[in-house]
Amino acid sequence: MKQINCDVLIIGGGAAGSRAAYEAQKANPELEILMAVTGKYGESGSSNLVASEALGINAPFNYMNDGDNPDIYYQDIITTGGGLADPKLCRIIADESCDRLRELMDLGVDFERRDGRPLQKLLSGCAKARSLTCGGSTGLIMVKVLKKAALGIGVKVSEQTRIMGLLSDGEGRICGAYGLFGDEPVCFSCGAVVLATGGAGRIFRKNVNPPAQEGDGWAMAYEAGAKLVNMEFFQIGPAVVKPEIDFIIHSHMWRLKPKLTNALGREFLANYCPDGVDPAEVLDAKAMSYPFSVRTIAKYVDIAIFKEIMAERGSENDGIYFDVTHVGRETLEERAPITYETLKKAGADLAKGKIELGLVVQNFNGGIMIDENGYTGVPGLFAAGEVTGGVHGSDRPGGNNLTDTQVFGYRAGLAASNYAKKNSRRDSCSGSQELQSKILPNAKELELLKFSEDLYYREMTIVRTADGLRNVLGFVDKHLREGISPVLKNRLLVGKILALAMLTREESRGTHYREDYPESSRAWDQRIIIQKGPSGEPELTTEKCG
Ligand SMILES: Cc1cc2nc3c(=O)[nH]c(=O)nc-3n(C[C@H](O)[C@H](O)[C@H](O)COP(=O)(O)OP(=O)(O)OC[C@H]3O[C@@H](n4cnc5c(N)ncnc54)[C@H](O)[C@@H]3O)c2cc1C
Repeated sequence: MKQINCDVLIIGGGAAGSRAAYEAQKANPELEILMAVTGKYGESGSSNLVASEALGINAPFNYMNDGDNPDIYYQDIITTGGGLADPKLCRIIADESCDRLRELMDLGVDFERRDGRPLQKLLSGCAKARSLTCGGSTGLIMVKVLKKAALGIGVKVSEQTRIMGLLSDGEGRICGAYGLFGDEPVCFSCGAVVLATGGAGRIFRKNVNPPAQEGDGWAMAYEAGAKLVNMEFFQIGPAVVKPEIDFIIHSHMWRLKPKLTNALGREFLANYCPDGVDPAEVLDAKAMSYPFSVRTIAKYVDIAIFKEIMAERGSENDGIYFDVTHVGRETLEERAPITYETLKKAGADLAKGKIELGLVVQNFNGGIMIDENGYTGVPGLFAAGEVTGGVHGSDRPGGNNLTDTQVFGYRAGLAASNYAKKNSRRDSCSGSQELQSKILPNAKELELLKFSEDLYYREMTIVRTADGLRNVLGFVDKHLREGISPVLKNRLLVGKILALAMLTREESRGTHYREDYPESSRAWDQRIIIQKGPSGEPELTTEKCG
């Protein structure tokens, strides 16, 4: 078995992992900082996806002179978060984002400019224009720049490496990890770990996440004793499913007043709008609310699409038809140039025909609970980026995930590096051979993984009910047992944690919609925290936020 030693092991090479690695190395140049990344570094993770012209990162620079400042930004996060974002963490994001972005600019990130100053755009959940962009490649360029900087100061990378579990010493301190290097078992010994594995969209049949986003980070952290918070909240929204390019349809496209039809050729939105709610106003609201959220009447668009698909009136590729031919080519080129060109390259001319639009899982608000320094509460274990929870509440301002990766990637990298400096690495690999032997799922397990993707999509995305969630728990409990591969185990564990959080929250709030509890309830102004209990089963507690 391959064994590798380092001082700080950073698991994940997206925007959060890259920032953490850079800061960890910069803080203590004498330490060995190593990143373990599935796939190729710079190409894996959600950060590296190219999306529409709206893909951006927030910081309250006030370049647009609209009066933006950290206090307004802070208030936006708290309000959009529906009272469930951690005020301490939000304050840090609001106060430190400009510094972290300025450092990115100094390293070479060149945000789009107008009249010599970076341009800031208004995204959903924001009172002011504060999103900076690099075309549809904001995250990709951030990672490219951070990668160059990190490798330049000595950070090492182990690519094609999927970590499946953490190792601890006899005193409960995290001192290593195990997984696969290609097809070969690998074990790492280290002084500290930063989990930066991103989200888990790949556990759902329809998603816009790259391979490897399967929630391994949550499963590993949970098994190690960390707490998970706000797990019921994640973003699902409309994306193109045909042509098959997983491209998100953002605000400006809804302003074009698309015609939505089902497989029978019928318009259906009005059927799902209650009396007194005008479908045209619902489409207008959708222009300022990309992901599904019960915060506004835009929710009827997503509910309508989801229900049509579930009633088998969807298109061939699990979508509905989206038609903006009435606006003409010139308008499309002017108002949505990246979207228009991207789809055209993929073979669909929006000016001439309709496309298929489905609902896909995009990214996660909840995750591993952290303190101000990315510390998880488990000695030696830190986390940053989308794998963490608390920075966002039941919903989040558009553009805040990338900010999170920089502000908390910076803090977690620094804290882990200083921790490892004081706590030297230990050999954690002896005796881990047994762990390595069954990592890859067998044929029966592959079938279960596929089945889970359908089940999780049906019961745990837009419309949630107690019956559906119990269905998920029944499936998980039937198959979660000793001796299964870690890939399947992580999948089932994550499904169980999500379903438990959703079942417990008997209300609708932000991105969480319970059809059997459609209203928000003040009694639920609390967040749900899940941790492995002494019996080995998940234990849930609730607490007021802040
Ligand atoms: C289409 C799309 C559009 C988006 N638009 C925006 C936007 O406009 N603004 C915004 O703020 N956010 C946006 N987001 C969300 C944002 O991109 C992500 O939240 C953010 O990039 C996450 O960064 P990260 O570093 O935490 O994780 P990621 O970038 O997902 O990186 C995770 C890393 O972990 C690795 N990894 C995963 N599992 C393992 C494992 N078991 N072992 C080893 N390595 C592993 C992956 O290979 C990858 O390198 C968007 C997301 C998507 C999908």
